[in-house]
Amino acid sequence: MRTVITGGAGFIGSHLCERFLAEGHEVLCVDNLLTGTRRNIEHLADHPRFRFIEHNISEPIELEGSVDNVLHFASPASPVDYLAHPIPTLKVGSLGTHNALGLAKAKDARFLLASTSEVYGDPEVHPQREDYWGNVNPIGPRGCYDEAKRFAEAITMAYHRYHGVKTRIVRIFNTYGPRMRLNDGRVLPNFMRQALRGEPITVYGEGQQTRSFCYVDDLVEGIFRLLHADFSEPVNIGNPSEITVLQLAQEIIALVAGTKSQIIYEDLPQDDPRRRKPDITRARELLGWEPKVDRSEGLRRSLEYFQGAV
Ligand code: UDP
Repeated sequence: MRTVITGGAGFIGSHLCERFLAEGHEVLCVDNLLTGTRRNIEHLADHPRFRFIEHNISEPIELEGSVDNVLHFASPASPVDYLAHPIPTLKVGSLGTHNALGLAKAKDARFLLASTSEVYGDPEVHPQREDYWGNVNPIGPRGCYDEAKRFAEAITMAYHRYHGVKTRIVRIFNTYGPRMRLNDGRVLPNFMRQALRGEPITVYGEGQQTRSFCYVDDLVEGIFRLLHADFSEPVNIGNPSEITVLQLAQEIIALVAGTKSQIIYEDLPQDDPRRRKPDITRARELLGWEPKVDRSEGLRRSLEYFQGAV
């Protein structure tokens, strides 16, 4: 099996590279290192079945030989990153997805799109099921990511319906674990870094907004199962255990023994979703999948990584 992973040098992408190597695949990791880093894959560099190709998937790509799977994970994905790179974000969701689909079609490969809970926007339905169409502000600051991913889903379905490409769409909810960038601006690395350095913990708004955090190993297992299922509609993969951002801050303060950090409150960013929690009935029924790592265990494992990174 030969598997192409775009965004393979990113947080989730690098975990996927490891998993597919462990399954015996040859892995071609395509990344332009905009938000991914060589550090995430340096331990794989000498693996005989691993190859890194520095390339921006928003430009066409030609690869020699057969390809069995294309996993399209390239994109800035944290709000801070996509606000800093709105146009590359729109391009990789649109042109990049088109190029990755073109590769899958040319090679008669399976295609899996990394979509996101952001397609639900600031949801009016809770928890979010896959048949909910979402509440997205197309011209707001998050529109560059949300609409790029919505377009990516649309073109993926078009390639499935029109060209018969075997496509899969995973809607990824907040995921955390080792190799998150310390400065990617997301809530979990921010709070971990702040707690470890004894700096103030920056809760945005009143911290009453909710998220549901999935440990990366659980996500990777769900993605692996979805790729091998015969199902082209979107599937939510996430951990339904929902907490407020304030609770997360308190849990991290309790976890980081001896931290002097205290909570401070800052402005809530525009269009910040108020609630988010996946309904994972579809993943349970279709894939026999559910998360196995609870937050206390996942936060403990992540802390070890952040202690080394800080
Ligand atoms: N957040 C926060 N403090 C931070 C970073 C984020 O309170 O230092 C909040 C943010 O406003 C949002 C939630 O944490 O409500 C999750 O933000 P993140 O950037 O991790 O991702 P999102 O789920 O919004 O895409």
